[in-house]
Amino acid sequence: MRVGTLRYQDRDGEGKHPLIAPRRGHEISENLLSHNSLRGDFTSRHIGPDASGARRMLDTVGYDGLDELIDAAVPDSIRTHSPLNTPAARSETEVLAALRAMAARNEQRVQMIGLGYYDTVTPAVLRRNLLEAPGWYTSYTPYQPEISQGRLEALLNFQTVVEDLTGLPVAGASLLDEATAVVEAILLMRRANKSAPAAVVVDTNCFPQTLSVVRARTEAVGIELIEHDTTRGLPEEKFFGVVIQNPGSTGQVRDLSALINRAHEQDALVTVATDLLASTIFEEPGAQGADIAVGSAQRFGVPLFFGGPHAGFMAVRQGLERMLPGRLVGVSRDVDGAVAYRLALQTREQHIRRDKATSNICTAQALLANVAGMYAAYHGASGLRAIASRVHGHATAVNAGLRAGGVDTLHADFFDTVVARVSGRGRAVVLAADRLGVNLRLIDDDTVGISCDEKTTDAIVARVLEAFGVSAGVRGADGQSRDSRTSGWIQPDLARTSPFMTADLFHRYRSEAAMQRYLRRLSDRDLALDRTMIPLGSCTMKLNSAVEMEPISWPGFAGIHPYAPDEQTRGYRELIGDLESWLADITGYDRVSLQPNAGSQGELAGLLAIRNYHRSNGDTGRDICLIPQSAHGTNAASAVLAGLRVVVVATASSGDIDLGDLRNQLEEHRDHVAAIMLTYPSTHGVYETDVRQVCDLVHDAGGQVYVDGANLNALVGLARPGEFGGDVSHLNLHKTFCIPHGGGGPGVGPVAVRAHLAPFLPSHPFDTDGVTGPVSAAPQGSAGILPITWAYIALMGPDGLAAATRTAVLAANYLASELTDSFPVLFTGADGLVAHECILDLRALTKATGVTAEDVAKRLIDYGFHAPTLSFPVNGTLMVEPTESEDLAELDRFVAAMKAIRAEIQAVADGRWPLEQSPLRQAPHTAECLLADEWTHPYTRREAAYPLPSVMADKYFPPVRRIDGVHGDRNLVCSCPPPEAFAIDGDREEVPV
Ligand SMILES: *Cc1c(COP(=O)(O)O)cnc(C)c1O
Repeated sequence: MRVGTLRYQDRDGEGKHPLIAPRRGHEISENLLSHNSLRGDFTSRHIGPDASGARRMLDTVGYDGLDELIDAAVPDSIRTHSPLNTPAARSETEVLAALRAMAARNEQRVQMIGLGYYDTVTPAVLRRNLLEAPGWYTSYTPYQPEISQGRLEALLNFQTVVEDLTGLPVAGASLLDEATAVVEAILLMRRANKSAPAAVVVDTNCFPQTLSVVRARTEAVGIELIEHDTTRGLPEEKFFGVVIQNPGSTGQVRDLSALINRAHEQDALVTVATDLLASTIFEEPGAQGADIAVGSAQRFGVPLFFGGPHAGFMAVRQGLERMLPGRLVGVSRDVDGAVAYRLALQTREQHIRRDKATSNICTAQALLANVAGMYAAYHGASGLRAIASRVHGHATAVNAGLRAGGVDTLHADFFDTVVARVSGRGRAVVLAADRLGVNLRLIDDDTVGISCDEKTTDAIVARVLEAFGVSAGVRGADGQSRDSRTSGWIQPDLARTSPFMTADLFHRYRSEAAMQRYLRRLSDRDLALDRTMIPLGSCTMKLNSAVEMEPISWPGFAGIHPYAPDEQTRGYRELIGDLESWLADITGYDRVSLQPNAGSQGELAGLLAIRNYHRSNGDTGRDICLIPQSAHGTNAASAVLAGLRVVVVATASSGDIDLGDLRNQLEEHRDHVAAIMLTYPSTHGVYETDVRQVCDLVHDAGGQVYVDGANLNALVGLARPGEFGGDVSHLNLHKTFCIPHGGGGPGVGPVAVRAHLAPFLPSHPFDTDGVTGPVSAAPQGSAGILPITWAYIALMGPDGLAAATRTAVLAANYLASELTDSFPVLFTGADGLVAHECILDLRALTKATGVTAEDVAKRLIDYGFHAPTLSFPVNGTLMVEPTESEDLAELDRFVAAMKAIRAEIQAVADGRWPLEQSPLRQAPHTAECLLADEWTHPYTRREAAYPLPSVMADKYFPPVRRIDGVHGDRNLVCSCPPPEAFAIDGDREEVPV
């Protein structure tokens, strides 16, 4: 046991942790620290600073105790009067036992329901070294490309897999799921084809959840939806685009070439929702002329997870790439001309384009895309084809068995899914299968679907046939090594003829040793939370503890199909029920939906609830969403997708919402105001004192108040948005509640509402009575990662949660105090204090010296740090959020680096180093540039690489130098470059710095 470590005690215990129940002048006695019960101890391990560290931080900030600091920082007007009511803290052992019991109440079956979710084998080498490896899952979105080359390469591999398999040249780095990917494709087709009428044709043989999500989303933005059976050709009406699913929901595989041609003749674009595994043996959408292909990469090694998280994908033909939603990895070069990866075309994204962005998607599904890409690389083209052929072989065996037994099936051409006609016996067949341990899809009482997957065996096929009462022998596919295309099982005109995944990389990592080392090599190139604090404002990069992470790959959670019958998912439903009520208590709202699978989707769900609430009151003219200037870009983009118009509210010089401007806007738009969307504490890192007044003004004008809850880490246990004026909020469980960021997803963005909005929450995709409809394909979104948040809340208990918030505020104020002399803190609230983050203003220094915030961000890499948030929400600044998890030593390491960088800026100011030749502008420094024979800079190699002695021990060398983003955007390359590109031939193009 560490001496001096803070030990959490039960709420009624006598000795109290100063972070948990601070008292003025409270002395920390040694016996307070010495009780040895493991119960509740997790809090002291989650929270970084120990008692003496907290004391020193308080001294620096100038407060006697944490209570005093919190009382001074957090306005009285928003403080809650009732403490959190979540269950008392439990030990790690107890929490794991409770989760294990819940997992056991989820009944495992052979999952053959299909509907876009198929069982798969996650290769153990990927589970252990990627999905469960902190170097991968704790990394941030790769906005700082120099410290993200590993995961950028992995995402580029994913893009290449999707491009090759769909036969389209540009694929994005993941979307949220298949249904929302279809919506994104519809919106893209609309952007690309603005002159056609606002109508889209969607084939009726799409998955029912896709149709539900599409109905909800097209209605909101005023696109007419024509649901049509395209096996009968195209409808009479005019439309801008067509969506067809192939293989269809009932399994049919079609040659779409003629239909796509006809749509093109009518100037419409065509999206094909497809299956990557099917595309290894069936003709790919690109070869049939599709403009866009979308789908889910789940079956490439990502567990069912009760519906998510899984990587959605989108690929487009040449000419549409600049309209892609979500993130796109591209190839560029660094200042020395070396090949380097970075996010391409970021000007499409909401951070810059706001209400004109191509999509509201921010957090996507990077980690799962990486698993899928590596799964493809591990199996290679031949391996994938073998898996697909086996899946197809088993489906063929099911089909043949059924037909031989006198059971009719719908389609002659299928990949993995066979649909049987059972005239009134549907329920009985599904029940019989259940008794044999198999879940089938009950389409209606006359039709039953069977979807085969990588785990299907001849024995399982035999059980399926038995459930149908068919006793035909199984023509086995277990040991078959034939390629479906040459076996005569696929009609020649449906078979894929083009090669795919021919790049070297898809041959290099087929052995486990090679794959293990590849994964290690890539993660070594990156800086994730397992190496350094990531002081990112607005993103709350806190500890993702191992105990929270452990349950997610247990089969009781990972192996459950999202459409399994309720009686098989008792454990999940208990866990979800707990979370809904805990989050309602934490936020002060009445109802919570966990369906949105990112913050952006929570925003959309919340705004749709507001819109539909107004409409239900006959207030159809309320279509304006007021959004403060400083808001996160997703806010404006989501408002547009909810069918609202964005009106910006000015920011006062204090950084707060300009009340005068707000009054004017409310006056001007009076009967049209649907809502205000504000972030609290604001994105300026300040607890605004007049937030209640803002809420009252908007309510008086008949509008609703949306509180963006991304900054809830400054509120939990201290204040509740539902109490101080909010009608609805979304939370980011991947920020405040410990779900790791995954290098850009997964996320969970629950939406919480007051009672009057509850009827307008997202509905189950199969519930036709829902007013708002679903926002995600799976009823509970990314359910598979909810155990992480459940564990966090259970481990911390109410006092631990509040202690985390208090410590986060203390840590931010400590950094602000320590750094403000070097870099002025831009906005402060009461008593000169900040909330849980602070903005360091570099603009005056930039003006005086030319050194930019970006230079500081890149120079931090040489000091071994991930940069703070760069130029959001204010250009030319850095926003720092330390979180409660960083201990004083780590905070001080950051302070020391920032102060040293400030001294370097001084050296530029003093003329000791010309700016262009300063270590700031030259940063980051690779080992290669440091060891070059020639060294012409005015600073030494040691000053470049070891600017502080403490950097030496575990020096991180970035793999590339500063990356030229413009070059990459001009010469867009979004697939793996050929190996020649990496050759060091001494004749690289010189790029001016
Ligand atoms: C992160 C964030 C969002 C968006 O959440 P995602 O999960 O990335 O979609 C919205 N608002 C604020 C203030 C945020 O910090």
